[in-house]
Amino acid sequence: MKAAVFHKMKDIQVETIDDPRIEDARDCILRVTSTAICGSDLHIYNGMVPQARDMVMGHEFMGIVEEVGTGVKNLKKGDRVVVPFPISCGTCHFCNMQLPTHCENSNPENYGPEGEVPMMKGVGAALFGYTDIYGGYNGGQAEYVRVPYADYGPRKVQDSLTDEQVLFLTDIFPTGWAAIDWAQLKGGETVAVWGCGPVGIMAMKSAWLQGAKRVIGIDIQPYRLEMARKSANAEVINYAEVDAVQVIRDMTGGYGADVCVDAVGMEADRNVLEKAMNVVQMEKGTMKVLEKCMDSVRRAGTVSVVGVYGSPYNNFPLYKWFDKGLTLRGGQAWVHRYIDHLISLVQEGKVKLDDIITHTVPLAEASRMYDIFNKKEDNCLKVVLKP
Ligand code: NAD
Ligand code: ZN
Ligand code: ZN
Repeated sequence: MKAAVFHKMKDIQVETIDDPRIEDARDCILRVTSTAICGSDLHIYNGMVPQARDMVMGHEFMGIVEEVGTGVKNLKKGDRVVVPFPISCGTCHFCNMQLPTHCENSNPENYGPEGEVPMMKGVGAALFGYTDIYGGYNGGQAEYVRVPYADYGPRKVQDSLTDEQVLFLTDIFPTGWAAIDWAQLKGGETVAVWGCGPVGIMAMKSAWLQGAKRVIGIDIQPYRLEMARKSANAEVINYAEVDAVQVIRDMTGGYGADVCVDAVGMEADRNVLEKAMNVVQMEKGTMKVLEKCMDSVRRAGTVSVVGVYGSPYNNFPLYKWFDKGLTLRGGQAWVHRYIDHLISLVQEGKVKLDDIITHTVPLAEASRMYDIFNKKEDNCLKVVLKP
């Protein structure tokens, strides 16, 4: 089959590799019909999340079931499904608590000595196409993909909906939803979302759906601010031009936003001095956006972090968290917990997800699209690849 294979930093090539096969009775094999490139893929592409071995990229994908293992009960050949990006068993301690991103069975990195119960060694659930640290599973930017625990992850979707309408149920919509859910809105809040990439925009859409009265988007790319305005009806602030923290305070009577979402993570833009400081402090990228969130949220407000961080950050403003009495939430999104409700929102037409797609291209062009998406060229916001 053809697949987008990661070789080394900035080197992803579409090439022919062996087809995946059923390895466990609970697996299914999916023929991928659509798959997307995510900001999280860029962390691997840019070497921020290391991977030494060749691996098929991709954790946002959907398709048609081609084959099922003998233990699979809920799926059959021909079913059309979307697949959550975390790989979760559905039966362990954490899966039973509806915390699928903490599954203790899917990630071999967590396994204890042979014959012992798996122990959590500080790594979460496995993720599709997300390096050996996250389980070493091949991803879905390919013609076919092996899906473990096929009875727990994949969800069937209505044939009347196009791939584009439902593809983002695999990751970015549940992720944006989680960021807002973690803040437990009561209704009427002001939500400021740092980052107007695909995840940030999905958080803005989710904020309206969960009762916000005001939604603000912050970014440094004018075309992404424009997308946040158009597709998520957000008021927008260009952080490259103004002091966004001050603007948010001015917009909220001096208090700050009730909720700030960090939808940027460690790969925020940095000047040379900031880069040098990050190197000295042995930090991967920067936590500057997290600090901006803590500055622009009101006292006793919530900061939700869905942007990825990958190392210790020495100057973490603990005093600010303490003095302002902030609630700080974060992590990989609990896709399995939210997805059924979110599918119904899409089916009922309460939310539109496909209006952020700027590029739909054959899988064969993956290498070029990684480069364009990474450099934010050609007004690129979300890329869908067609195997
Ligand atoms: P993206 O790279 O397309 O978007 C990031 C945006 O941040 C860009 O628009 C960029 O211009 C903007 N930005 C950079 N520096 C900024 C600054 N100083 N202030 C404001 N904006 C700034 O990525 P994405 O696909 O939207 O993903 C965003 C983050 O969410 C990534 O870190 C990704 O890994 C993470 N993510 C997390 C989960 C999860 O489960 N927690 C799931 C998916 C993605
Ligand atoms: Zn993703
Ligand atoms: Zn589990």
